[in-house]
This record gives sequence, C-alpha cells and structure tokens, in this order.
Amino acid sequence: MMNNEQKIDELLTKLIQEKDRVIGYPVAKDFDYSRLYEFLKHPINNVGDPYEDNTYKVQTHEMEREVVDFFAKLYRADPTDFWGYVTNGGSESNLYGLYLARESHPKAMVYFSESTHYSVKKNIHLLNLPSITIRAQENGELDYEDLENTLQLNRDKPAIILTTFGTTMTEAKDDVSEVKRILKKLAIQNHYIHCDAALAGSYGPFIEPRIPFDFQDGADSISISGHKFIGSPFPSGVIIAKRSLRDRIARGISYIGSLDTTITGSRNGHSPLFLWYAVKKMGVKGLEERYRHSLETAEYCKTELRKIGIKAWTNPGAITVVLPKVANRIKEKWQLATDDITHVICMPNVTKSQIDEFIKDIIEEKEHADLNTENKELQFQD
Ligand SMILES: *Cc1c(COP(=O)(O)O)cnc(C)c1O
Repeated sequence: MMNNEQKIDELLTKLIQEKDRVIGYPVAKDFDYSRLYEFLKHPINNVGDPYEDNTYKVQTHEMEREVVDFFAKLYRADPTDFWGYVTNGGSESNLYGLYLARESHPKAMVYFSESTHYSVKKNIHLLNLPSITIRAQENGELDYEDLENTLQLNRDKPAIILTTFGTTMTEAKDDVSEVKRILKKLAIQNHYIHCDAALAGSYGPFIEPRIPFDFQDGADSISISGHKFIGSPFPSGVIIAKRSLRDRIARGISYIGSLDTTITGSRNGHSPLFLWYAVKKMGVKGLEERYRHSLETAEYCKTELRKIGIKAWTNPGAITVVLPKVANRIKEKWQLATDDITHVICMPNVTKSQIDEFIKDIIEEKEHADLNTENKELQFQD
C-alpha cells in the first residue's frame, strides 16, 4: 500500500508529465514565482475592498491596487473613475460585471452571443436576469445584424450587452465600437457593455490592427483571467469597472471595518501578490513580446497543419488555431477541448517542437486510419 509521502510524490510526477502536453487549454506554464514562496507561510487574506481601510492587516491590498491600476491603464480607463479587484477567475469577474450592470439598470435585458463562455449563462441565471441569445457568425464573432434586429424589438428596455474578446473555441473578438454604434443608432440610452476578455484581454492592446474592446471603445467593465495568458499556480482574475458604478453597491460592514464591495468575503491574498509580481516583471513591453511570440507559434502551427492537408484557420490576431475534430487518442494525449471542432492554443510556453510532435501524431493517426480502410477494402474483396 502506498503511504501518504508516496502519494504526494506520485501526484507531483503525474502533474509534471501532464503539464507538458497541454496545448488545448489557455494556461501559461512558463512562470517562476520562487521569489514569493516565503509568503506561503502566512495567512494572507484580502477580505474587504482593496481601496478602503481594513481592520485585518495580513493582506496585500496595495499590490492588488497596483494590479488593478496596471490593467485599468492598459484598457484606457478614465484615470479618475475606475475601480476593481482581483477575483478567483474570469467567471467571478463576469459575475461582478453583470451584477454592476443589473444594479445600474434593474429592468434591463441581457444580450449575449451563442459563443459566449458558459460562466455568463450561469451568472445570468444566478442574477435572475432576462436574456436573449444572439446568433454568432461562422468565426464565432457576434452577429451584429442579429443584435441590431433583436435590440430593435426591445427598444423600450435598457440593454446589457455581453461582448467577448476571445471566445473559448475560436478566439473570436466582438467589436465593442460596433455594438456602441448600434445602440446609438437605435437611441437606446440606458445601456451597459461588459467585455469578457478572459484570455485575450492580457494582450488586447497589442493586436494589430486594433480590435475595439476597452473603456474608450465603450466598455463599462472588463474581466480577465490571471492564470491564462499571464500564468499563475492558482486560478485568479481581475475585474476592472467604473468607480462610480461600484459606489452604488458599496455597503459598510463594521465587522471587517471596510466596504463590502466584493463577491466573496475572504479573498485570496496570494494571487494579487503573484499577479503583481508577474506584471511588474514583464511590464507592458514584456507582455507584448509574449503576445508576438505566441502569434508566431500560432502562425507556424497553422502553416504546418495546412501543409499536411488539414484545414486549420485563425481569427485575426488570434493565438488559437482552429481545426477539424481530431482522433480521440490525440485529443486525450494533448488535452484538446473539442466539440465539432478543436483548437490548439499557442500560449507563450508552447514550443515549435511541441507543435512538431503534435503534427507527427496527426500524420501517424492518418496513416493508421488509411491503413484500416485499405484493410477493410481488402477483406471485402475476399
Ligand atoms: C476562461 C474563460 C472564462 C472563465 O474564466 P475562469 O478564469 O476559468 O473562471 C470566461 N470567459 C472566457 C471567454 C474564457 O475564456
């Protein structure tokens, strides 16, 4: 029987083995936070609003504010009117965005596209909001014509539009300025746009040509995941919103000596520190380089797949290569998220040699399949 020590060792070995073959999920693995290991000895808890005084002092609120500042700047938020906090992940950030939207427009209808992340549908359900699903175009992007027609029919209601900047399967990006244009054309003044930028938000500003998604383009709140493009040992996310909107929901709680503005009470105090460390180390320039590197790998992956006759494609500026469904064996080995299509997400740690190995597997599988059909044909001739 295995003792606990062996169990831990075995788990570690297994995780290391599996880690090297993740090319289907958007998690960066090229991080080194060893400088921060000392902090794991302390009960850090970021309970309360990071911008307010708090009675509990074993916290990293200052770093948390600097993380929010970093992204607020990157997303061209009004320097006098932004707020945010580090969440448990993109899903909580989306919940927060929708919550702010509902508090601003309690009678609103929510519009989101077919390719929207599942967390949004769940959050809409949790908040008990009426909603309408809008068609998505073939590439996964919001169908603006369908949005316009649907909004037209509900012009009397305030509108909450959920845009996605990097959809889960094809990394399609909804154009926020196009959404804004439609709202203006229909004279729907009471509206709120939340942009779910879980993956692509971290490199959104570097995409050329630019795809509108940020505060100046018309978003009221933006969510991102910290463990995706930036990378972290534990899930985290950031929500950036307008401070004026947050003020509407702020409630003082004497027990924590702070404002209760966040979804959860106790909050991870390590993840803001880790995120802070990462963004300070990379800086805007480092983030941009990470993106260029990923883009190049994606281009390589697409080209190599096409060379062997696979119809691979990418959305503009995307690091996600979309291809037809692969054989189960390959899907399992490379941990590829699959529905009727599959994708390879070229996160910064994905290398060309990994892509080469993946392609070799596909070629082998193809030959194997061809051989099988040949065999069947032979049998048939007998
Ligand atoms: C990953 C993702 C989410 C959810 O983020 P978590 O950090 O996993 O909670 C939401 N939306 C999109 C588009 C995503 O890719």
